[in-house]
Amino acid sequence: MLTYSEIKSALSGLGLSDKAVIAHASFKAFGQVNGGADSLVYAVLDSVSALMMPAFTYKTMITPNVGPPNNGVTYGAEQDLNSMAEAFTPNMPCDPLMGIIPEMLRRHPSAKRSLHPIQSFTGVNVEKYLAAQTMQNPLGPIKALAEAKGWILLLGVDHTVNTSIHYAEKLAGRKQFKRWALLPDRIVECPGFPGDSAGFNAIAPYLLNDTRKIQVGNAIVQAVPLRVLFSKAMQIIKENPLALLCEREDCERCNAVREAVLG
Ligand SMILES: [Zn+2]
Repeated sequence: MLTYSEIKSALSGLGLSDKAVIAHASFKAFGQVNGGADSLVYAVLDSVSALMMPAFTYKTMITPNVGPPNNGVTYGAEQDLNSMAEAFTPNMPCDPLMGIIPEMLRRHPSAKRSLHPIQSFTGVNVEKYLAAQTMQNPLGPIKALAEAKGWILLLGVDHTVNTSIHYAEKLAGRKQFKRWALLPDRIVECPGFPGDSAGFNAIAPYLLNDTRKIQVGNAIVQAVPLRVLFSKAMQIIKENPLALLCEREDCERCNAVREAVLG
């Protein structure tokens, strides 16, 4: 069984103690951890200077009956989901799709959270990054983190959950989407919604020389500088505007990007 001390000792090998990071995690990937998910959260917090994670809340999303064309969505098809949508509130738990670690971080006594109704971020020592989020630029916190020479930390997960690649897609001029979210008193438009991330592992070979990699328990842990990731991802998309898309034939957002590129 892994302990806090063993995790912290292993993470020190990444050399991130003076770095601000955005992390993505699978707690299950680590195997048994003494003290549970809290031990992992505290070990990561004590291994970096600032820790941010996505605290996304997909259950606020509403799909209207009509909207802009080629938007990677089937209008009018989600009436059942619409009726189950919940209005965003600042204390809404993070979506379980992201695992339990973001929710444990959100509940940390020193954690703050931004207020985007679908794509909020949470973390400790990250106030200035959270403040960079706007409705027009939901991934602004990632941009701000990159400007502060931040890193990405993948804890037992791969690039298919690496949200920062979405910001590089935006920088490369790739099509962004519009979504809608429920607030307690109204529905708001949420522009700048990113595409699908299922094809993102194709970036891994391009980052090999810039990736720090260790094993902690059963989990592979990788760290990549954000600015390197941005420049490599932009280069890949510039060379091939269809790069990093997934192969699923019915993927609405990847197909919408193809249509935007190929016409
Ligand atoms: Zn796709």
